[in-house]
Amino acid sequence: MVIIKSTEEIVIMRKCGKILAAILDKLRTETRPGIKTSQLDIIVAEESGKRGVIPSFKNYRGFPANLCVSVNDEIVHGIPGERILQEGDIVSLDVGAKLDGFHTDAAITIGVGRISKEAEELIAVTEGSLKSGIAQATNGVWVDDISSAIQHYVESKGFSVVREYTGHGVGRDLHEEPPIPNFAVGKGPLLRRGMTLAIEPMVNAGGWRTKLAANQWMVLTADGSLSAHFEHTIAVTDNEAEILV
Ligand code: MG
Repeated sequence: MVIIKSTEEIVIMRKCGKILAAILDKLRTETRPGIKTSQLDIIVAEESGKRGVIPSFKNYRGFPANLCVSVNDEIVHGIPGERILQEGDIVSLDVGAKLDGFHTDAAITIGVGRISKEAEELIAVTEGSLKSGIAQATNGVWVDDISSAIQHYVESKGFSVVREYTGHGVGRDLHEEPPIPNFAVGKGPLLRRGMTLAIEPMVNAGGWRTKLAANQWMVLTADGSLSAHFEHTIAVTDNEAEILV
């Protein structure tokens, strides 16, 4: 069931989103060649504690960390660990925060030091596709208007969208109805004012197919091509969507 948030609930999510944005800013400045991905996880734990939010991902369906770190051909759900980021890597950082019973969820992909032209373009196209999807999100349109805009944007640039993983509603639960696919699959529900959604295109430089790592968490591109991921949590209004984080 699709959940409509009250004004008071959106106020809490707005506050939660501001804190999560600050945590992401800290991660952005700390992501550089030589840092271990587990150090980024520690930063999320420390910053969340300092700012009074709970990291949403820790223990979610058994996920063992505060942050998902996915490098190069890793798409999503990478577990932080001993890997050391190298010049030329691209790294997707996906993180959630919970405040007063409500979650917000966001992701960015960052180049580590100097990166290839293809990697730069992939990052720009993924971020651009998220913007084009959000530009559709208003009271009274179909979920598919978001999905189709993202798919069209990505494919017009020669890249592909991941199909097995989608965006989602977010609020009291980290994952709520409705799913927000990044490609056209049918109309889906109508958007209504007060819906809060995590829109999150995952874009591959090669084909759209994925594979699951042996740890049963991390998702990689099937063909070994690079992948990028951007995510905002938004609130649907009668006009432009409000970006909560
Ligand atoms: Mg999400």
